[in-house]
Amino acid sequence: MRAERSTGLDRVIGARSGKKFAEQLGIATAGELLGHFPRRYLARGELTPIRELPFDEDVTLMAQVVSSSTRRMNTRKGSITEVLVSDRPGQTNGPSTLSLTFFNGVKASRQLTRGVVAMFSGRVGMYRGRLQLTNPIYELLDPEELDAEAAAKLAGRPIPVYPATAAIPSWTIAKAMGTVLGAVDLSSVPESLPERLRRKYGLPSAAEAYRMIHVPENDAEWRIAQQRFRFEEALVLQTALARRRAQHAALPSRPSPARRGGLLDAFDRGLPFELTAGQRDVGEVLAHELSQPHPMNRLLQGEVGSGKTVVALRAMLQVVDDGGQAALLAPTEVLASQHYASIRATLGPLVREGLLGGAGDDGVEVALLTGSQSAGEKKRSLLAAASGQAGIVVGTHALLSEHVQFADLGLVVVDEQHRFGVEQRDALRAKSLATPHLLVMTATPIPRTVAMTVFGDLETSVLRELPAGRSPIATHTVGLVENPSWERRIWQRAREEVDAGRQVYVVCPTIGAGAGDEGDLDELDAATWGGSALAAPEPLQATSVSETAEQLATEPALAGIEVGVLHGRLDTEAKAAAMRRFAAGETGVLVATTVVEVGVDVPNATLMVILDADRFGIAQLHQLRGRVGRGGHAGTCLLVTRLEPGHPSRERLEAVAASTDGFELAQHDLEFRREGDILGASQSGRRSTLRLLRVLRDGDVIARAREDALELVADDPELERHPELAAAIADYLDPEREVFLERG
Ligand code: ADP
Ligand code: MG
Repeated sequence: MRAERSTGLDRVIGARSGKKFAEQLGIATAGELLGHFPRRYLARGELTPIRELPFDEDVTLMAQVVSSSTRRMNTRKGSITEVLVSDRPGQTNGPSTLSLTFFNGVKASRQLTRGVVAMFSGRVGMYRGRLQLTNPIYELLDPEELDAEAAAKLAGRPIPVYPATAAIPSWTIAKAMGTVLGAVDLSSVPESLPERLRRKYGLPSAAEAYRMIHVPENDAEWRIAQQRFRFEEALVLQTALARRRAQHAALPSRPSPARRGGLLDAFDRGLPFELTAGQRDVGEVLAHELSQPHPMNRLLQGEVGSGKTVVALRAMLQVVDDGGQAALLAPTEVLASQHYASIRATLGPLVREGLLGGAGDDGVEVALLTGSQSAGEKKRSLLAAASGQAGIVVGTHALLSEHVQFADLGLVVVDEQHRFGVEQRDALRAKSLATPHLLVMTATPIPRTVAMTVFGDLETSVLRELPAGRSPIATHTVGLVENPSWERRIWQRAREEVDAGRQVYVVCPTIGAGAGDEGDLDELDAATWGGSALAAPEPLQATSVSETAEQLATEPALAGIEVGVLHGRLDTEAKAAAMRRFAAGETGVLVATTVVEVGVDVPNATLMVILDADRFGIAQLHQLRGRVGRGGHAGTCLLVTRLEPGHPSRERLEAVAASTDGFELAQHDLEFRREGDILGASQSGRRSTLRLLRVLRDGDVIARAREDALELVADDPELERHPELAAAIADYLDPEREVFLERG
């Protein structure tokens, strides 16, 4: 039959197989099958190195049978066939052999005789110290099985290995693919790559590439086909982002040019420090963009303590000077309250108290709006926002609720971007006739290509230097396995710190008491940088806040020191109280979860002890330690681990101890991660949205595609002359995938 890409797979390969493909692989049409790309390729005649097989994973391998034996089972009815295969003919023992066990494998015992070469597929297990596949499925590859013509045709061709399931092994997929390739008119496959770009990079057409990736004549073919699809993927994504950016930039917004003699000038005059060069540069960019009649859309990256808040505050004042309002969104109530307090403190005499009422140029009213405020407090803040009385409104998600109205919202600042999706951004934008300017701040350094992919619709600024006078943080790994006595030493060290008038954070991976928790997920965005997803299942129970607090209460070295507790499950009141006592210096030691990661600012804290530090990701450890050494006193961070020296997770700790450069660590972090984690796919349980493209490996492809996409969109904003690319984007942006684009 002739088939289209949209033809149901069942009509091409038969109803029964079609149903299986749909159920097992989610593949329903001929086109979807064509898009199911091989994971890798085996060289024909080349046996798979058995010693490299990953334990406990599904594998497809090629091997030769060296022996086979069948015996009756003693305790149950039936027989066991044990087949020994090897990647080296003649080898019957050692790491190059693998044992295959078949229960009642009559057929296997007949077919898998000494010397036979076959492809096997199954999950790698272990039995009596030897790698084993139980009831693997297999496909004979013996040349004698094929007629001469078929053998000659196949000789030298790479064998594709597809992502497969037990019910549909790779070779079944390959056969179905052959049928589909024969049935579908490939010349009708839409060509989403513009001809010009295909020529520029010497890439094959879509039709050629499908053939080359599924039935390559040689390795060169599948490589070039992969290149094409990778570039295509990057281009589709970058064009979507470029369009989004262009459309957004074309919206009207309220221009707020800087005004001389206003609050911003007064604020600058009163600043107790010099702005860093970076703060000045970014400040100029923001000042310019705020004065434009189209919305700013900018991501500001900078390490914890690099002075982002001051930069944001200056932008807010520019808008307030022009009679507009600014909103600051924080991810948690703790942070919102802190921002509120620190903005008021930083503004000092420029704060106008709301209760006095009356307008005037004498200052700016700052309002706070969070979910847990009393009805009266809320009402006051809502009124201040709606009437325009409050120039700056700080809040949590509560700000997004539909009851909240602004008189003239000109700028939205989002702190710690990962909490706010685009719908939320849009919710805030909807509160204003003109599109407000947007500034997103993040303390997580994001490598360039990730930023291009995940935040591709935002312009990016970076604050690289820390303000002068910031003390460096010394970080040490403390391995309790090799040095059990150091546990004692840690608490003595904490004591010394408190005796010297300083304070100590103790961070634990879980909350404890009540169990079943996976850490402070309500407070911590594991999707972006969290390390908990990284940690392999460990036999050790992760240390909890409640246990640790209990233990420290009776720790002799800490006798007489108040130990506080902070985590996301405390009610707002208790959280605020814990923070207050610690900020006031009443609590010497604060045992907490990662709630302290984002923005908690107690300059007097100089020591951070992170227990079971191996449970955290690199970027997260880096963020956490940024909480100490903020007050001009040198900070120390101890990464405590109970893992054996040489354990792979300890490498991350060594990396953090060895560098204080957030960007270097972020790059490093990526290398430890799986792609899906980078894009947050693991969180939602979906597969990575990217098929062949890898953000880390394919940075240059992404960068090139971005250039091309910008040109393309500048030249043809509605993609009228590129309908197939437009269709590919629509396809790519189906609702499932949109989530990924819209993490900004
Ligand atoms: P971030 O939000 O990037 O973590 P903040 O803006 O909160 O950083 O700044 C951290 C601390 O450094 C604040 O106490 C702030 O007042 C101070 N600070 C900011 N900029 C400077 C500067 N240029 N020189 C000295 N101190 C600064
Ligand atoms: Mg901050």
